[in-house]
Amino acid sequence: MERTDKAGVRVRFAPSPTGHLHVGGARTALYNWLLARSQGGTFVLRIEDTDLERSTEQAIDQIVDGLQWLGLDWDEGPRIGGPHGPYRQMERAGLYAEKADGLLADRKAYRCYCSAEDLDAARSQAREKGEPYIYDGRCQRLDGDTEAVFREEGRQSVIRLRTPTTGNTVVKDLVHGEVSFENVLCGDFILVRSSGVPTYNFAVAVDDIAMGITHVIRGDDHLPNTPKQLMVMAAMGEEPPQYAHLPLILGTDRAPLSKRHGDVSVEEFREHGYVREALCNYLALLGWSFDGETTLFSMEELVEKFSLERVGSTAAVFDRVKLLWMNGSYIRDMEPIELAERLEEFLPSTRLAGLPGGEGRPEIADLVPLVQEKLKTLADFVELTDFFFLPVEFEEKALDKLLSNGEAPALLRVAAGIIAEVEPYSSEAIEAAMRKAAEDMQVKLGKFLQPVRIAVSGKMVTPGMFETLSVLGREESLRRIEHVLSKQFKGHS
Ligand code: GLU
Repeated sequence: MERTDKAGVRVRFAPSPTGHLHVGGARTALYNWLLARSQGGTFVLRIEDTDLERSTEQAIDQIVDGLQWLGLDWDEGPRIGGPHGPYRQMERAGLYAEKADGLLADRKAYRCYCSAEDLDAARSQAREKGEPYIYDGRCQRLDGDTEAVFREEGRQSVIRLRTPTTGNTVVKDLVHGEVSFENVLCGDFILVRSSGVPTYNFAVAVDDIAMGITHVIRGDDHLPNTPKQLMVMAAMGEEPPQYAHLPLILGTDRAPLSKRHGDVSVEEFREHGYVREALCNYLALLGWSFDGETTLFSMEELVEKFSLERVGSTAAVFDRVKLLWMNGSYIRDMEPIELAERLEEFLPSTRLAGLPGGEGRPEIADLVPLVQEKLKTLADFVELTDFFFLPVEFEEKALDKLLSNGEAPALLRVAAGIIAEVEPYSSEAIEAAMRKAAEDMQVKLGKFLQPVRIAVSGKMVTPGMFETLSVLGREESLRRIEHVLSKQFKGHS
């Protein structure tokens, strides 16, 4: 097939829709996207749904949502189409059949009628001998008459590629350099199953050619598949794209990153209050570095600086502590109005859903200045501000502290007096009056404020108390303090 798009970089992200978008997949998508955007190229999204048992529509939606949320937009692919569509492999069956027929006609491939039992037997024999199983090519030389008999008998067949039995296939990888695979270990692998569904290696090779892909960037786990794909392309008389296999992602225990390490999907990170800038920045550094030092890169900077030359070949360790730090850093540096928007988007899936801005309750934007410095995740907002929206729930420790503080009732009464009378009711005026009262009483400000903090929030740690009282409002603050004053304090009746 003609490669019509030689002029520009064309890359693809080709997920199998069998589950969530894993951070490993997201990194692959990101690197492809960055290469396309940095070169003015084209980023293609292709859904590899030939595993009929494991592929689901829901997984496609999750992958698409995850990519959109990360801001990794595609130029061709599902939902938008493009000149090389369709972009779901199960809708490309006609092309695979045509290519398979071509290979059969050229005698580059052949039909194999071996039954599952025959193959199983050969497999166990190899196992017993402790040898790797390699298909022995027994159907390679079937003559037309035998085939006709087999077909009449109703025997099922698969299509296999005729592969070389000597020499090596060398993958010239942009990350790993030249990696050589012995052809004898490959065997004539299956291109099309008896059901007519193409295998992964066949469909990928056909599509990468048909879609004019110039660079295949994907995880290391696919490196052993690459010689097979090169063989398919060679059999079709096509020039292969360039390959870049990205290093594995490990957990801190150096085992491949998996669910048991904690969050692994983009969706989970999103649900737990991570922002896209932090996740993209962090994922960019899992295998790529600019100068080995700089850690914070905006998407624009990544697009400007990214190159495959600086992708390393050693496995990258997924460091949650660093990601969390990075997330906090992005949240702190956000424009408050932007942060308020992110929170608007985030809160509906939390227990604060529908509460901000309701009757007598603060808006998200009122609270952002109080908490922005303290947030490591958007979810921290919920923990820090829930008491503005929900009835006070006392932390056990906080309640103990409050009720065992003999001076608390007196301090709370002074605070209540200030809250009731201060004019205007602003954080500055509350602060001035409370500082003065503390001085007059010769009590440290922190000591004065602690019972107030616990009374209005139920917590030991809150946003700044003056701002909190101001946002909470005069009446609500007083109501909460009065409520606490009605409780039984130790040493008081
Ligand atoms: N569909 C494959 C996967 O999700 C990726 C194939 C490829 O990038 O070549 O692992």
